[in-house]
Amino acid sequence: MTLRLRSNKDQYELVDELRQNYHNRLKSENVIQALLAVDRADFCATDSYKDAPQDIGFNATISAPHMHASALEFLADKLIPGARVLDIGSGSGYLTACFAKMVEPNGRVVGVEHIPDLVNISLLSIEKHHQGLLDSGVLKIIRSDGRLGYGPDAPYDIIHVGAAVKKDVPKELLDQLAIGGRMLIPVGGKRVQEFVCYDKIGPNKIKKKKMVTVSFVPLTSQEEQLSLT
Ligand code: SAH
Repeated sequence: MTLRLRSNKDQYELVDELRQNYHNRLKSENVIQALLAVDRADFCATDSYKDAPQDIGFNATISAPHMHASALEFLADKLIPGARVLDIGSGSGYLTACFAKMVEPNGRVVGVEHIPDLVNISLLSIEKHHQGLLDSGVLKIIRSDGRLGYGPDAPYDIIHVGAAVKKDVPKELLDQLAIGGRMLIPVGGKRVQEFVCYDKIGPNKIKKKKMVTVSFVPLTSQEEQLSLT
């Protein structure tokens, strides 16, 4: 019986569960609407509605739903229609699609992912129910090394980094952040990091705030990622 209920669970129930379990971390209406609009089952084949990360191949994971919810909440006040967003290490494309739902119709979201197969798979996932975001140019996924950011569409109001750096935040990323913009990036060791918010409050002025402890795969080269065990 429990099993049958589990397999029948849907995105609405997942979001409802997140609201109950993390009510103070998932409260913004624009975040809730984005999570409801983007079905996790389009982006991950196994245990789509379980609040746990899932393997997507190539030593990458789609983050747990509560992690997506937290990242969106930390950025919620800036995720408004018209905003420009850079999502480094876009992986499955789930969060990238949520960003696009929040900034459409005149915003722009660039996902940057260095594994070519993940770029293709994420585009196929997005096409299932959100082809319009690609057709309108609101959302694109670029195959590139995210450590360099993505210069052609800079500056960005928001930079989200979905892979961890050891301690130094790449200068290119801070340079590509607009004044008034915010970057959210995991900083720390191999297994555990802090999710850190960098608010660019002036041309050379950054305000830094540690948000929560997280565990992300490293922001690294393709070769190193594919050789990880
Ligand atoms: N937010 C994504 C997280 C995916 S895991 C999701 O929930 O699906 C982190 C991703 O970062 C992986 O897909 C990995 O391939 C990618 N990555 C790691 N180093 C990178 C780099 N230098 N440039 C671009 N992408 C990178």
